[in-house]
Amino acid sequence: MIKKISHIGIAVKSIDEQISYYRDDLGLKFTGIEIVKDQKVKVAFFEVGEARIELLEPTSEDSPVAKFINKKGEGIHHLAYGVENISESIKEMEKAGEKMIDHKPRMGAGNHQIAFLHPKSTFHVLTELTEEH
Ligand code: ZN
Repeated sequence: MIKKISHIGIAVKSIDEQISYYRDDLGLKFTGIEIVKDQKVKVAFFEVGEARIELLEPTSEDSPVAKFINKKGEGIHHLAYGVENISESIKEMEKAGEKMIDHKPRMGAGNHQIAFLHPKSTFHVLTELTEEH
């Protein structure tokens, strides 16, 4: 089941514009940038204790994050919980009646297996499960 907060995803128009706020002003440890092709985003990672802040910059206009920004503006995009076993957690969520966007795990940033719950099931908080060890 859920072990911890893994990360908070924040939708941004430009990582370059915001990186100094997180790294220099807040003093968080910047640990790198990665392109996640599947989701058409560039992701910047910052460590906060056991958890991370992930800045998500769309790499294309048809990226889900671009659509999010067009609709709601920049800001908190999703909350990710770290779980022990992602396949088991998906089954548990479905058994509990939650609607999943991903019925099977898929590859997310950092080579972690992830799955999203449907916002209709989570009172509009886009929620991700991620398996991390
Ligand atoms: Zn995430």
